[in-house]
Amino acid sequence: MPLQDNQGNHFRGQVVSVAEDAIIVDLNHPMAGQPLHFKGTILNVRPATPEELSHGHAHGPDGHHGH
Ligand SMILES: [Zn+2]
Repeated sequence: MPLQDNQGNHFRGQVVSVAEDAIIVDLNHPMAGQPLHFKGTILNVRPATPEELSHGHAHGPDGHHGH
C-alpha cells in the first residue's frame, strides 16, 4: 500500500499480516535483498579541497554545501 512519512516522502509498504490489534507492514524496498548492478562513468578527477578533507566527503555542483 502507498504510504507517506511526516516529511512528505512517498514510499510503499507490503502488508505482511493483519491481527486483531496489530498490522505488520514490511517497509523494505521491493529490491531489498536483490543483487543490484550499477554502471557509471567517471566525468572528472581532481584533488580534494581542504574543506572536503575536513568534512570527509566531496562537495561540488552535484555535492552539497552549507555545513
Ligand atoms: Zn560537507
